[in-house]
Amino acid sequence: MLSDIEISRQHTCQPISQIAGELGINPDELSLHGANKAKVSLAVTNRLANNKNAKLVIVTAVTPTPFGEGKTVTTIGLTQALNHNGHKTCACIRQPSMGPVFGTKGGAAGGGYAQVVPMEELNLHLTGDIHAVSSAHNLAAAALDARLFHETRLGAAAFTEQSGLAALNIDADKILWRRVVDHNERSLRQINVGYGSFNGPVHESGFDITAASELMAILALSRDLKDLRSRIGRLVLALNQQGEPITAEDLGVAGAMTVIMVDAIEPTLMQTLSGDPCLIHAGPFANIAHGNSSIIADSIAAKLADVVVTEAGFGSDMGFEKFSNIKVRESGYAPSASVVVVTLKALKANSGITSEQDINQPDSERLTAGFANLEWHINNVSQYGVPVVVAINRFPTDTDAELEWLIERIGQTKAFGCEISEAFSKGAEGAAKLAEMVYRATETATEFKQLYETEASLESKLMTLAEVGYGAASVSLSDKAKSQLAWLTKHNYGNLPICVAKTPMSISHDPAIKGIPTGFDLPITELRLNAGAGFVTALVGEVMTMPGLGLTPGYLNIDINDNGEIIGLA
Ligand code: ADP
Ligand code: MG
Repeated sequence: MLSDIEISRQHTCQPISQIAGELGINPDELSLHGANKAKVSLAVTNRLANNKNAKLVIVTAVTPTPFGEGKTVTTIGLTQALNHNGHKTCACIRQPSMGPVFGTKGGAAGGGYAQVVPMEELNLHLTGDIHAVSSAHNLAAAALDARLFHETRLGAAAFTEQSGLAALNIDADKILWRRVVDHNERSLRQINVGYGSFNGPVHESGFDITAASELMAILALSRDLKDLRSRIGRLVLALNQQGEPITAEDLGVAGAMTVIMVDAIEPTLMQTLSGDPCLIHAGPFANIAHGNSSIIADSIAAKLADVVVTEAGFGSDMGFEKFSNIKVRESGYAPSASVVVVTLKALKANSGITSEQDINQPDSERLTAGFANLEWHINNVSQYGVPVVVAINRFPTDTDAELEWLIERIGQTKAFGCEISEAFSKGAEGAAKLAEMVYRATETATEFKQLYETEASLESKLMTLAEVGYGAASVSLSDKAKSQLAWLTKHNYGNLPICVAKTPMSISHDPAIKGIPTGFDLPITELRLNAGAGFVTALVGEVMTMPGLGLTPGYLNIDINDNGEIIGLA
């Protein structure tokens, strides 16, 4: 089979204006960025406000493994197949980050014959949204440090006299706002800034990957430009000498940050290999961020299509949990069905049994043990009241005997049903049966339930997430997290939802515990206020908000050939 980039390059795309027209977008609602990409105006949702919302399908998976489960492949394949079967469908996915593209995972356009094309345009700069988020984020960091410098240099009274601005009295040891860059920059995780005679005061800082920026979460959760502006105003950047929050509004930088993001607020329309519409918006990383595509993209697609298919990152304990408890809480747009993606390899890798045997080979012991992980995810999604269709993403090495065993076992679970998906090797046709089953699942009556009430205290939300969300026996807070909890409650942030940052490689906080971890204590190391995004991030165990490059990163294979074409993108 051809490589993903070869398949993408050999394909002739339809003009994106034609894809937009077929979806029902008016020419004046479209800003073309070349032939293959176009920004879509939020005016669509106002014009079509009276249209019924499409059925929303959320694609999630079992606990991820280094082999890749194929959520994006399935999201795109399902969109292709639903359209092929006559259901007007639009996919909504996140813009890939260049960290994974040049690091370990590679791109996020899907793969094989279930791809968004041209994949190199999606995987690299797209229409610059991630750059805009980085730039707006770093403007706030620059503004904060400049303000700290001038107030320190002049003293509060002279500062006010000369600038006409009230002094903020920033505490240099309580600067919460770090910097961001869209690369895996290990060496910038922890830095000190402000050295040199015309700088200062020296203080701690560091870089997160742009997808983990609170601004990325704001982009994903905002309803419109006005909402984006007010959320940016609410960002808490630092504390003052009295321990009170200093916001982007206080610093006077919120307007300028919003201005940098005015184009980024519009999702980008692209197409699948079968010419189906796909809206790209917001960023990945459902482990350290909330990692879902945007409310704006979903709500535009909801008015134009009959079915919207979107993907939540990692396993259902991560992206799907955040989709349900954070995103749907904001949007009110609940899913009608879910798809849990599984592969034979993923089950074997989740068995907890270490074996010398090639993971691609039949192995009933590991498969049987690993099945428990799939059942956990089926039950987890079911408790939100959403019907679960299991998509078995077939790899070329999978044997019929193991697939039949798996189908039989899934038949004994709470799942609505399951189908094998061969979208990777066959495109729309390969997912036709899956699409019909998913469509039938969307037609069943559902009653979407969240895990906790908005009004519940942060402590009780943490407990619910740990016990009901992950199956932990208890939660413990570090001293730091305890004092942060007290501060958050005192400052009226106690009723925000929680965004857990933890390893995605286990349902627990320990990546080494596979299958269904039980009886564990969930250690909360830190609580971070994200007042603009509207949640509190709970860091569980050792979590990094900036990835690093490994020994043999993807960039080693990436180059330009003699024809000026990009090679090596995976
Ligand atoms: P996820 O969204 O779950 O992270 P992706 O859809 O991005 O996973 O797929 C991960 C990787 O696995 C990609 O490189 C993709 O091309 C590859 N892949 C997915 N499904 C298959 C399949 N059925 N056969 C071969 N390769 C696949
Ligand atoms: Mg994906």
